[in-house]
Amino acid sequence: MDSTFPEGRYRKFSHYLRQRFGGPVRKLSLDAGFSCPNRDGRLSAMGCVFCDPRGFTAREMTGSLALEKQISLQIEKGKTRGITRFMAYFQPYTNTYALREKLKCVYDTILAFPEICALAIGTRPDCVDEDKLNLIAEYTDQYEVWVEYGLQSIHDATLQRLNRGHDAAAFFRALELTRRHSEVRVCVHVILGLPGETAEHEQQTAQTLGRLHVEGVKLHPLYIVKDTALALAQKENPIPLLTQSEYVERAGRFLEQLWPETIIQRLTADCPEDVLLAPLWLPQKTKVIQALENWLQEENTWQGKAYPVLEK
Ligand code: SF4
Repeated sequence: MDSTFPEGRYRKFSHYLRQRFGGPVRKLSLDAGFSCPNRDGRLSAMGCVFCDPRGFTAREMTGSLALEKQISLQIEKGKTRGITRFMAYFQPYTNTYALREKLKCVYDTILAFPEICALAIGTRPDCVDEDKLNLIAEYTDQYEVWVEYGLQSIHDATLQRLNRGHDAAAFFRALELTRRHSEVRVCVHVILGLPGETAEHEQQTAQTLGRLHVEGVKLHPLYIVKDTALALAQKENPIPLLTQSEYVERAGRFLEQLWPETIIQRLTADCPEDVLLAPLWLPQKTKVIQALENWLQEENTWQGKAYPVLEK
């Protein structure tokens, strides 16, 4: 067998979006100014050990611009490159961490932009409830809607080591609540190469996500950013990080276990080079993805190859 998908050996998000919307769709990285219960002291003030206090890339890029301005600037930029459709992505921190009224006010900002065709909301599994998901589901009348849950691993011992402040059960509950709205799609964030995890742990995470038929997955290797708990720990007791070729193999083995229908939304990370401490190969995104595609080819394997046949 050569490949399972017309676009290659895994289900690519860009291909899916082209098919679904008839052309390329660009993500708008939006920062609505939310905080996170694992940062503001409700759960902890320290955050996850890898969490960049600057709020990953989006807060860096957008600064304190009003949401409307963030949207219009990015749409204008996209249009100069011939892009006409956009996905609003509420990205940094926890974008369901507010009362329903406030959330509605924030999400409603996109209504003024007819170029937006899809909405993605990044959050923690312990920060959704029925009321918030009912609100999110209302947007499916007009938009394709994704809720993105930061999970990272299905193993509670790992989640504790990462100071996530929630367990795997919180994710299962969130998924069950989200599933009550069949039109809302779920994307799960996973990190490979986490402290204490082997390839087997990661494959168990993939198998669980496969069984749960999650619609999307975002993957990246563990990386260390300045001013994080991980950076401090690294000084005293260096954490072994994956080399590029180790990551490629681990990501390939992870893909093999997934449900073949899951859309792979990301295979590596965006991190500004001035704050990245390690691994230094991380910014070479194209090279990493190409190496993974070559590996899948050489191993003659693909997403879902190890997915249980009876469940297909
Ligand atoms: S849940 Fe997200 S925003 Fe909150 S501390 Fe962890 S990584 Fe940072």
